[in-house]
Amino acid sequence: MLYYSTNHNSDRVDFKTALLRGLAPDGGLYMPESFPELRKTKGASQNFSETLAPFLDIPKTEIARIVDESFVFPVPSKKLFGEISILELFHGPTLSFKDFGARFMARAMNYYLQRKNEQLTIIVATSGDTGSAVASGFYGLSNIRVVVLYPSKRISELQEKQISTFGGNIAAVEVAGDFDDCQRLAKQALSDENLREEINLSSANSINIGRLLPQMFYYFKGFQSGASFVVPSGNFGNLTAGLFAKKIGLPVKKFIAAINENSVIPEFLATGKLIERKTRMTISNAMDVGKPSNWARITDLYQGDRLAMKKDLEAIAISEAETKKTISEVYKNYGYVVDPHTAVGVAAAFRQPPGEPKIVLATAHPAKFPKIVESAIGEKVNIPNALNEVLNKEKRSVLIKPDYPALKELLA
Ligand SMILES: *Cc1c(COP(=O)(O)O)cnc(C)c1O
Repeated sequence: MLYYSTNHNSDRVDFKTALLRGLAPDGGLYMPESFPELRKTKGASQNFSETLAPFLDIPKTEIARIVDESFVFPVPSKKLFGEISILELFHGPTLSFKDFGARFMARAMNYYLQRKNEQLTIIVATSGDTGSAVASGFYGLSNIRVVVLYPSKRISELQEKQISTFGGNIAAVEVAGDFDDCQRLAKQALSDENLREEINLSSANSINIGRLLPQMFYYFKGFQSGASFVVPSGNFGNLTAGLFAKKIGLPVKKFIAAINENSVIPEFLATGKLIERKTRMTISNAMDVGKPSNWARITDLYQGDRLAMKKDLEAIAISEAETKKTISEVYKNYGYVVDPHTAVGVAAAFRQPPGEPKIVLATAHPAKFPKIVESAIGEKVNIPNALNEVLNKEKRSVLIKPDYPALKELLA
């Protein structure tokens, strides 16, 4: 399989190159140039490594190993009421659906590096959450070292522990400065040609094609005959993976993108005008996106045809008030606790006419957002063991001044 850039100004590359690059040289996002349909006889029941095989230049046994080592947690489905069910994607180590993509991408990268006996250093600046997902995804891999830069005393204790208690191939660097200092230092390292001659350096890109492809997994796994999926969306990576699954043959009736008050896409689908707005802060903050990066992929998938898009895709914006109300009502009426992101999805599902099964993707565990959830349900949320364990572990980080020589010394 070859991958092209959504900016159509770079060469087509194989999966390995797209994976290790992240972004195409022209600044576009990589897209598979075709979507081979699954064999009808096997359909959705076939093994997921076989589903992925046409997209990767990796032997099937190795794909199977990478899938097994990546998806080491359950994906339970819970009936909420009537035709609405919830597919829980938050049982991975960092309690969000991003564990699927991050773990697979990390292991696929490690596979290629191992074969050539190469080492790679990934540098990431974080204001809290992305750092722990990347650190966790790459932890324990033989050929990749991760350096996480985080601002000293400006992230929560839990976030700090989730970054700094791994050890091994994960180096936590506490920067005596703010998040902007961390970002500046990471950029400086990535553009330092001298350093890059010494070590193989990369960033952990959230738009990497190596994250999207494995996310097809739970669409196949959670599918029910005739169902639509409701997908809480920000950058639309999760939804793009669903559209890929449909393209190769999963008979999904419709995708419903559930959006918070950053409602650029619902407006676009209604009017045809894509008006970028300043990002608004909401309680579903992982979806606070003013300009969804994966929209370029969806546009390419439909060759810009908005009416064709609307046959497969609907987008519904949910207000802050409705999100909070949904958390409390879902608890009161069904005894089920949803996090603010999943609540946006459930609210969108409630607005759908009856008729077919609706599967809401639960993107994060409610314990990640205790303040908001507890104030909405009036009770404490249960903290999973994994979170408690990490809080009891010893922090191991290196404190540096917010200047580049200090970081360079540490990297070289
Ligand atoms: C990242 C994230 C989203 C949005 O996913 P996209 O792929 O960016 O649309 C939704 N919910 C949670 C909890 C997230 O972390």
